[in-house]
Amino acid sequence: FLPHLVASLEQVDVTYIMIKPDGVQRGLVGEIISRFEKKGFKLTGLKLFQCPKELAEEHYKDLSSKSFFPSLIEYITSGPVVCMAWEGVGVVASARKLIGATNPLQAEPGTIRGDLAVQTGRNVVHGSDSPENGKREIGLWFNEVEVIEWTPAQAPWLME
Ligand code: UDP
Ligand code: MG
Repeated sequence: FLPHLVASLEQVDVTYIMIKPDGVQRGLVGEIISRFEKKGFKLTGLKLFQCPKELAEEHYKDLSSKSFFPSLIEYITSGPVVCMAWEGVGVVASARKLIGATNPLQAEPGTIRGDLAVQTGRNVVHGSDSPENGKREIGLWFNEVEVIEWTPAQAPWLME
């Protein structure tokens, strides 16, 4: 019986987090990754990637009727992004809180967007909005071999 595995009886979720091209260009990669890392979530996938237009359109397909859709696709494909998969109990909602509101001017200080961005169209980071979309988006952005099963050494110090 391993006490820290009790948490695995709860639902472990996955979320797709992406540092958008402005975050990469502005040198915020380390800063943004470290916020999720310090919180205690488990990184299971990580890569620098130039997103093709078709993938950007598929990822944001629910927004395809919006007036900002063409500029959103141009933005996401304008330079490399950092793709991440993170795992943990409650990771989807918690990551959204760490990221902050879509409009950085309305995002609370202490959140990534609240601290590091000013405009909705340059809001530096993406996070899945539901556990279902977390799975869907990781499937879209990663190959199976790019998502790694591992046990962090800190696990028993994070979960009782
Ligand atoms: N977006 C935009 N203009 C808007 C709303 C959204 O450019 O009026 C962009 C912005 O980059 C946002 C992304 O579209 O992050 C996806 O929008 P969503 O409403 O899903 O916001 P999010 O989940 O990223 O907070
Ligand atoms: Mg969204």
